[in-house]
Amino acid sequence: MTRHVVVVGAGPAGLGAAAGALRAGARVTLVDAAEEPGGQYHRAPPAAFGAARPGRPHHRWRGFERLRDRVLGHPRCDWWPESAVWSLERAGQGPPHVHVLRGEADGAERERHVLRPDALVLAPGAHDRVLPFPGWELPGVCTAGAAQALVKGERLVIGDPVLIAGSGPFLLPVAASLLEAGATVLGVLEANTAATVARGWAARPWGLAPEAGKAGELAGYAGLLARHRVPYRTGRAVIGARGDGRVEEAVTARLHRDWSVVPGTERTVAVDALCVTHGFSPQLELPVAAGCRLRGDARAAFTEVDAGQRTTVPGVYAAGEITGIAGAPAARAEGLLAGWAAGGGDPGDRAAAALRRRRDQARAFARRLAAAHLIGAAWPGWLRPDTIVCRCEETAYGTLLRAAEGTAAGSPRAVRLATRAGLGPCQARVCGPTAAELLGDRAGGGHHRPVAQPIRLGELANPPVEDPDKKESAR
Ligand SMILES: Cc1cc2nc3c(=O)[nH]c(=O)nc-3n(C[C@H](O)[C@H](O)[C@H](O)COP(=O)(O)OP(=O)(O)OC[C@H]3O[C@@H](n4cnc5c(N)ncnc54)[C@H](O)[C@@H]3O)c2cc1C
Repeated sequence: MTRHVVVVGAGPAGLGAAAGALRAGARVTLVDAAEEPGGQYHRAPPAAFGAARPGRPHHRWRGFERLRDRVLGHPRCDWWPESAVWSLERAGQGPPHVHVLRGEADGAERERHVLRPDALVLAPGAHDRVLPFPGWELPGVCTAGAAQALVKGERLVIGDPVLIAGSGPFLLPVAASLLEAGATVLGVLEANTAATVARGWAARPWGLAPEAGKAGELAGYAGLLARHRVPYRTGRAVIGARGDGRVEEAVTARLHRDWSVVPGTERTVAVDALCVTHGFSPQLELPVAAGCRLRGDARAAFTEVDAGQRTTVPGVYAAGEITGIAGAPAARAEGLLAGWAAGGGDPGDRAAAALRRRRDQARAFARRLAAAHLIGAAWPGWLRPDTIVCRCEETAYGTLLRAAEGTAAGSPRAVRLATRAGLGPCQARVCGPTAAELLGDRAGGGHHRPVAQPIRLGELANPPVEDPDKKESAR
């Protein structure tokens, strides 16, 4: 009988997984909460916009279009857009049952479905991480990823002029997109010092050869910044934002290698918007719900996989940013491998061996990036007692510290319960790694969320829709 593989996420990893499973001969249901496939990297405006050139601000758009059309047009592929996986229900020794809500996220007509696949590939990606600083909760301060998503998905600029700050090469495509969309970019600030960045990139230079394409992409961004006279500064960060009701000024400062502020180097810059990102956090609620083991600690945890992208749960595979932050090409290679294995493909296949080499090269490149763009340990020195750490519950840094030193001492969980940090609507997706770091909590992190996506009580009460394939939906 043909194997049924469910793939969650249609970004580079999920589309790759669907292609791999189809090639292995499986039947695929590809599920994504978004209207269009592509994930974060190839986020496109909704078809209703009728964009003449939907691939305009994108790299590798042609390749994406070819893969998308091949997967979505395949007779064994069932594409479920606007379909959010809100829960995974463990089912004995096999892969978990997949609970899906189909329909517009804010619509009233969403239908509940349950899928019972032979194998499950999880590829839900990551969201960008931002460290708190005084004033980061002001309107007009956003993550660089949010600014990028607005340009790519809605053709909107977040503000003008805009300052971009944080850490990592991701700041460069965001600056490029904003410039191409017509905004004035006042500067790009990389918090790591030039020495840290150079040491990370220059280590074992022969390892850069297979990634010549990436180097070319970076050179393209550098050229664009130069043409628009946008300064790129290392060792400088945004440590505060000020304004009456919305951001009007950014406070920047020079940093030491450990990200402590060099006294007397504070400057203010008038801005209309401020985009800040310090790397990415994987979306781990689905792998945790499936029972997959994680590696790392609460501040940087990822799904553990073997060479064939198998997780520790039989029949469950993982690919993309949930296994490590390594960029879109690595995510696609991991997805192809995961899908191939999930679909019952032969691990000794020559194409699979080539893919494993490609994935391993991309992962080595990612390790280089991580060394060049790390998070300095002294960043909490930017905080004041009244700086908000958890935006949902408005928990201030001082409140967190007082709880950690008072009755809740020694138990990060008790501190969270006492201060409500991480217990609001985002369920610690934004503040979780920050609170873990501030509380010295290496074990916590709060990825356990039985409900991965919001579901209304009425929707929960409705019985699941009967699909033609009874095996998938009968409950
Ligand atoms: C906001 C943002 C913007 C980015 N922009 C760029 C960029 O411009 N250039 C660049 O080089 N890199 C960018 N990156 C990094 C880039 O996302 C990754 O390198 C790459 O896209 C990872 O691929 P992925 O398939 O693992 O995840 P993603 O591309 O994130 O795809 C994950 C998909 O899973 C879906 N999903 C998640 N949870 C569920 C669920 N419960 N149910 C159903 N569907 C779900 C999402 O809707 C999404 O489509 C960005 C990252 C972020 C977070």
